[in-house]
Amino acid sequence: MRKIAIMGAMPEEIEPIIGKLENVKETVYAANKYYEGIYNGKEVVVAYSKIGKVFATLTATILIEKFACDTLLFSGVAGAISDELKIGDLIIAEGVSQHDLDITAFGHPYGYVPEGEVCIPTDMNLRNIAKDVAKEKGLTLKEGIIATGDQFVANEERKNWIGSTFKADALEMEGAAVAVVCSSLNIPFFILRAISDSADMDASFNFDEFLESSAKISADFILTMVDAIDS
Ligand code: SAH
Repeated sequence: MRKIAIMGAMPEEIEPIIGKLENVKETVYAANKYYEGIYNGKEVVVAYSKIGKVFATLTATILIEKFACDTLLFSGVAGAISDELKIGDLIIAEGVSQHDLDITAFGHPYGYVPEGEVCIPTDMNLRNIAKDVAKEKGLTLKEGIIATGDQFVANEERKNWIGSTFKADALEMEGAAVAVVCSSLNIPFFILRAISDSADMDASFNFDEFLESSAKISADFILTMVDAIDS
């Protein structure tokens, strides 16, 4: 049977999920909590990593290597780059890039290091399941590139630079780290984000106001996806 990892970065992103699990078993490992449980008959392990690429790398690795998860779904919030995305809208990553990875001094493109990829694609099957779920629910789901970096972006200039350099539609702080782990370990993964802000001057205020509601929109969608994934 499949064992699905559901990961967020912050407590707000996974609380709506943990509340819906049965037979929850909590384990502390590497200074973090992991919640094993059952959702509608499916085995899941849920955790929030804490913010940023390094914590996200640690948690994704542990979910796979210690808890033996064979599929990883990330649920959370992001800042919008595309004008099409408004607060509360959902975006799935077709691929993810690290916008703060920079060895351009050696003639490489932004986001590239030797033996790495500028943009890591997410699993197509999982994306197709998400599109079916969205259709069924009558929800609009944007698909695009998501850029990740260890920065809360609240600056129009930086946001536009990320948008044009990586052709990204949204930005956040964990997705590409999860992608590096999962693609290296051959684990199908999926990144879903609901918009909490527009990565501009008002980003921190909007984020505080909409974190909870947007995180819940993303979490609810992820749970419907778990239902739609074959066991
Ligand atoms: N308010 C928090 C910090 C949030 S950091 C505190 O004070 O502790 C932002 C989190 O939401 C990250 O996990 C990131 O993935 C996502 N995110 C949402 N909007 C973002 C933005 N504009 N820039 C970068 N990350 C963003």
